[in-house]
Amino acid sequence: MSAPFSFRVAVVGGGPAGLMAADVLLAAGAQVDLFDAMPSVGRKFLLAGKGGLNITHAEPEAAFRGRYRERVTEVGRWLDDFGPEALRAWVHAQGISTFVGSSGKVFPEGMKAAPLLRAWLHRLRAAGLALHARHRWSGRIEAAQGEGGGWTLGFDTPHGPQASTHDAIVLALGGASWARLGSDGAWQPWLAGQGVDVAPLAPSNCGFDIAWSDFLRERHAGTPLKNVRLKFTDRTGQVFDRLGEAVLGAHGLEGNLVYAASALLRDEIAACGHADVALDLLPAKDEATLAAALARGRGARSMINHLKEQAGIHGVRAALLREGLDAPAWQALCADPVALAARIKALPLRLLAARPIDEAISSAGGVRFEAMDARLMLSALPGVFCAGEMIDWEAPTGGYLLTACLASGRAAGQGAMAWRSLPRVG
Ligand SMILES: Cc1cc2nc3c(=O)[nH]c(=O)nc-3n(C[C@H](O)[C@H](O)[C@H](O)COP(=O)(O)OP(=O)(O)OC[C@H]3O[C@@H](n4cnc5c(N)ncnc54)[C@H](O)[C@@H]3O)c2cc1C
Repeated sequence: MSAPFSFRVAVVGGGPAGLMAADVLLAAGAQVDLFDAMPSVGRKFLLAGKGGLNITHAEPEAAFRGRYRERVTEVGRWLDDFGPEALRAWVHAQGISTFVGSSGKVFPEGMKAAPLLRAWLHRLRAAGLALHARHRWSGRIEAAQGEGGGWTLGFDTPHGPQASTHDAIVLALGGASWARLGSDGAWQPWLAGQGVDVAPLAPSNCGFDIAWSDFLRERHAGTPLKNVRLKFTDRTGQVFDRLGEAVLGAHGLEGNLVYAASALLRDEIAACGHADVALDLLPAKDEATLAAALARGRGARSMINHLKEQAGIHGVRAALLREGLDAPAWQALCADPVALAARIKALPLRLLAARPIDEAISSAGGVRFEAMDARLMLSALPGVFCAGEMIDWEAPTGGYLLTACLASGRAAGQGAMAWRSLPRVG
């Protein structure tokens, strides 16, 4: 249904959240200008599609919502309107089918983001979207003079600084990971300077530093550790215990299994200076059977061969087992099958720091929910709304990030339309 009035809205940021806000606003009859700092929109969305665009997840609703941890209520409100099923229906409406992978993850057909983005942008342009690439919001925001009110934004463009006035604004500026794709987090001090409460952005779904030896780093960096179990109990007794795949990185440990634990690990390091985890290198074998196998006489065989034949431990797993032990400690361990089995089942690793935010998949922190009303309008800047990763929520990988970004974009677009219809005081 189109609105019989002129309502000019600027959406700043052309990631999935901003595009969804623009979509809702256009459908409701608003006149929408979308500004993005980059030469084209949706760059992180396209990157997300490189390894297979996991757009949402098909697990039961309660489990799905629980992924948003302490923000389950706030994000849950967005999902009431646009949850995983609605999201899939929306993808289908763009002419692209979806399928559920074996782990419950949902992907668009072909697994890429480009066809979906192409179809979406085509439709938005046809609906009247005015797209302004290479327009970087400079942080300037001023109440517009005159009767109509609204906000004037300042942009840095290839043709110099420009100003643009709109009745309402949706900010969808993203977090601060992969800054080269456009979201650099520069907006944090700008909004804080306007009286908006912003929690500092922090890495989420990230790797962690471990003080590896040069030997391990040079020989094994980049090697996947398939089918390992990560166990961690934080200072408050919260337990993470999951099977999955990690990657031995040059600086420490990364990969999906580590990303899934990253919020707990990051918070533990912030509180205690480090996080001690245990890696089960052979989850399929129990410790007693392993100890019995390792106790078999090895005769003249080397320890490396013995480990390989009796336990199937070799390559990066054997190197990890030896890591951090000097020659006498290693020899003592090799002479004690029970201790060796225990180390294989719970290799202690000390994580020292989260990897820099620019390397992370996503960001935690951002505009606090307390700084906005239920329609995502900033209390400090009436008529200015926020959406996407720039809001203070986090979730693991698995499609939860894009689901919440898209759902919040929808909420912000609807919020702006609802605000338009409210009578103004004064
Ligand atoms: C490698 C990788 C893989 C991923 N895979 C998945 C996945 O499979 N599933 C999943 O759910 N999530 C995935 N994600 C996360 C997901 O891509 C993000 O959560 C999502 O893109 C965030 O959307 P957004 O619209 O909030 O912000 P963004 O996509 O970051 O978009 C923000 C936009 O704002 C623009 N901008 C920033 N500052 C300014 C400014 N001052 N002026 C103008 N424009 C500005 C940027 O140029 C950018 O276009 C992945 C992320 C990465 C890095």
